[in-house]
Amino acid sequence: MRVILAHYQEIALKGQNRPWFIRHLARNTRDALAGLDVGDVRLPMGRLEVPVRDGQDVGAVCARIRTVFGLANYAVAHRVEPTVEAITDGVMGDLPRERVVPSFRVEVRRAHKQFPVASPDLERHIGARVGAATGWKVDLSNPAFTVWVEIVPKAAYYHFGKEPGAGGLPTGTGGRVLVLLSGGIDSPVAAWRMMRRGCHATFVHFHGHPFTSHASIDKARELVRVLAPCQLGAHLMLIPFGELQRQVTVTVPGPLRVVVYRRLMLRIAEALATKVHARALVTGDAVGQVASQTLDNLSVIGSATSHLTIRPLVGMDKGEIMADAHRLGTFPISVLPDEDCCTLFTPRHPLTRAKLAEIERAEADLPIAQMVAAAAAEPVIERVDWPVVKLPVG
Ligand code: ATP
Ligand code: MG
Repeated sequence: MRVILAHYQEIALKGQNRPWFIRHLARNTRDALAGLDVGDVRLPMGRLEVPVRDGQDVGAVCARIRTVFGLANYAVAHRVEPTVEAITDGVMGDLPRERVVPSFRVEVRRAHKQFPVASPDLERHIGARVGAATGWKVDLSNPAFTVWVEIVPKAAYYHFGKEPGAGGLPTGTGGRVLVLLSGGIDSPVAAWRMMRRGCHATFVHFHGHPFTSHASIDKARELVRVLAPCQLGAHLMLIPFGELQRQVTVTVPGPLRVVVYRRLMLRIAEALATKVHARALVTGDAVGQVASQTLDNLSVIGSATSHLTIRPLVGMDKGEIMADAHRLGTFPISVLPDEDCCTLFTPRHPLTRAKLAEIERAEADLPIAQMVAAAAAEPVIERVDWPVVKLPVG
């Protein structure tokens, strides 16, 4: 029988919480595969197995498996009876003989220690049969092709190669975070990094509409659509920010505005986080990348909230962040033109070394508490569901 056989690594280290992590992993995998013709997820000895029914496109199953955080790698494998004959016959039957294979080896993992044949003996036995049938040369240290065999108490699996999984920890094991999502390159990557650590992300986007076009909202929606599959759906909160910015311009000198806008965003995000029970705020800041991200400014901006604020990209280079964005598929959306609300009513040269006292003085004439309360009162919340399961008609 054809199965997906996946391994988890980091969870294996989680001590007493291990069963709880694994329950999340199994449930998330089941949910991710909704609507596909697969059997139930099973957890044989440190592995995760999904039977794939004949006729089901295995590529579609793999595409979903690749989104599941907590899986270190996976393989399209075959399950057989745990006997030497069944394993050897299976391997010989499915071997891709048409392939040009300069060298190979057999690797046996025996999680079932009572299996009567030692791993090296089984490797030699299968290796001899494969070599005789194909003429391929054995190379134990640097093989071009590997036949993998894994034996658990009631089953054996064989496959011809693992693919990397999404890694990280199962969604839901890390608690909820509120991600401040601009239309830019960085914040979607920051979100993904926290999601991969098991956090469930809710997103908030501040937009300048109707002072600016709709473009940044459309981008935020698209970005959430790309990220949502990794955590099986997401919510996006849309907060109009243009009117608040206009109010800021009345009393705050131009060079200080970006810092004041950012502090307002964090305060509103804090209020929203409390509503949705998010334990932390997440931003895409990286030290020195733009004027608002000097250490001085980050410090003054961060002091607007006492809520835990996480900046997963803080020490990363732009190139590294862009590579992540390409891999995630967010890059082409992030670089679409938009009118970021922070460019609204902002001079070209904002302050790079904000002083808290100066900023507080500038904010003193603003009804900050009311502005925050009003903005957070009734956020427009949009929901992205994943997977979209088409129910049979009738
Ligand atoms: P990004 O590429 O994520 O836009 P950036 O390098 O352009 O980041 P800034 O524009 O200074 O940096 O924004 C810093 C962080 O503040 C962003 O990563 C994001 O978390 C948050 N942020 C900025 N603008 C918005 C917005 N309009 N809505 C929500 N969050 C925002
Ligand atoms: Mg930006």
